[in-house]
Amino acid sequence: KRKLTLCVVGSGGVGKSSLTVRYLQGQFPEYYDPTVEESYITQIEYGFDQHDVEIIDTAGQEEFMLFRDSSLAKGDAFLAIFAINSPESWYDVQKLRRKIIQENDDDETIPIVIIANKSDLDPEESRQVKIDEVLEYCKRCNCPLLETSAKTGLNVTESFRLLLDRISELRPSK
Ligand code: GDP
Ligand code: MG
Repeated sequence: KRKLTLCVVGSGGVGKSSLTVRYLQGQFPEYYDPTVEESYITQIEYGFDQHDVEIIDTAGQEEFMLFRDSSLAKGDAFLAIFAINSPESWYDVQKLRRKIIQENDDDETIPIVIIANKSDLDPEESRQVKIDEVLEYCKRCNCPLLETSAKTGLNVTESFRLLLDRISELRPSK
């Protein structure tokens, strides 16, 4: 089996780096330079195999204009992240999903998992994204959704596992 490239995407500050580092190193990083794009090579046990995986923690793709030149173009699958206290980031996830599909010859089956991060924040004060709207969108798009917290570790491992589930469902040859 060849190497899988997983791209972690979403607007600046949603927790892409925190989630990636939490997943790979098991801890919440103190600080991560928001402008730096990092790529990690790792192995993930899935099914009966060890898969070689590259995880690209994207940065500075707010405009997603030069898609073809960017790391987004290399992705086999995408974790599209928003933060529950940022409606703009939820809007960006929807835009990004369209863009990813468009750049994959309008193939709606490109594996994408939507992540609602920072779910540790106080629900009363911070839930500025309407969850009903998110649920409806994800249902309509047939996109799995997971609430995570890079801070507490909630569903961090699960989100990468869910993405691999999606790949094996939608891209069985990979
Ligand atoms: P990126 O720009 O998407 O890579 O976001 P970062 O990972 O750099 O995180 C941006 C800010 O959000 C930092 O201050 C993080 O500490 C914070 N952050 C990231 N994930 C979480 C989370 O799950 N919960 C909370 N409360 N803060 C988070
Ligand atoms: Mg970052």
